[in-house]
Amino acid sequence: MKCIVCDKNEAVDHGQCLECLSKGLQISVTGSIDITICPKCGSYKIGNRWHRSAMKANLASKIEKHVSSGETGTDLRVVADSIEIKRTEGRIDFLVTADYRNIVSQPRNLSIPGKILLNSCPTCNKITGSYYEAIIQMRTLDAEYSTIIDSAMDLIDPFLVNMESSSNDSFVSKIVRLKEGLDLYIGKKNDALKISKFLHENFFSEIKTTKKLAGRKEGEDFYRYTYLVRLMNLKAGTLMYHNGVTYILETATANTLKLIDASSERRVDVQQNDFYSGSYTYSNEVVPLRKYIVLASGNDETQIMDSVTFTTHFVKGNFSGEISAFDYNGKFIVKRN
Ligand SMILES: [Zn+2]
Ligand SMILES: [Zn+2]
Repeated sequence: MKCIVCDKNEAVDHGQCLECLSKGLQISVTGSIDITICPKCGSYKIGNRWHRSAMKANLASKIEKHVSSGETGTDLRVVADSIEIKRTEGRIDFLVTADYRNIVSQPRNLSIPGKILLNSCPTCNKITGSYYEAIIQMRTLDAEYSTIIDSAMDLIDPFLVNMESSSNDSFVSKIVRLKEGLDLYIGKKNDALKISKFLHENFFSEIKTTKKLAGRKEGEDFYRYTYLVRLMNLKAGTLMYHNGVTYILETATANTLKLIDASSERRVDVQQNDFYSGSYTYSNEVVPLRKYIVLASGNDETQIMDSVTFTTHFVKGNFSGEISAFDYNGKFIVKRN
């Protein structure tokens, strides 16, 4: 039986020949494709990844996922060279061929809706140092630059190096040293969050987060985040006050301040929240902390000698060897570690 359409070839299905069946295939396009192109270097982003080359080939395989014929045994191919990006029209034009039971159809013109954005890529941003999503402000309690900021920087440095090498769009745009601290401009907001948490875990500190509308990016409101990390930089011996009691700061760890009640010599632990909520106040006054040599010890009392002036004093507790003690108005209190 001849094909009912062309009346030339032998009919195989639905009274039609393979060629006519192939020509009559309904090819549909679903969905859309978003692509971001860097106007500086021509890199492009499809999905979450930036690519440097082979844009048409990558787009072709992406578009192939959006075309279908509804006929099993049909292999649809997007002709990569035919792809044309119509940015202002918001669509991508292309040719597609259908291989239907080994009969390859004439290419057909199709198009898929697409949002085509121009945006500079992470590499170009990094080079110009202009792009950042967040700022980490490293500060001290008194808003003066202190060595604790250098220590914090030393600690996070390997963290930053690892972050930059593990992901293409992770980067530090710039680091600005100010008289009150350091500002780190961070490419990705999530990286900034990680860095500030890492600092918080390693230093007695508080984090304050603020965000500010910085414009529009890829059709959405774009916020810049600021993570203010306030590092505790008080020295051992600083006088602190709480509920009418005077304390001497003994040590500071990442989570806890150890204070000594100056009159009872009782030890008190203070957590970060209590300290930063302002329930403890502190002065600029730091009681002297010096080294002493133990002369004699017993009955919960130790005689110590100042190794420079040779004056002797008594402290509570039994100690041996060399110790450090606070001199609180002539009352000596041994510093524990
Ligand atoms: Zn036919
Ligand atoms: Zn670029």
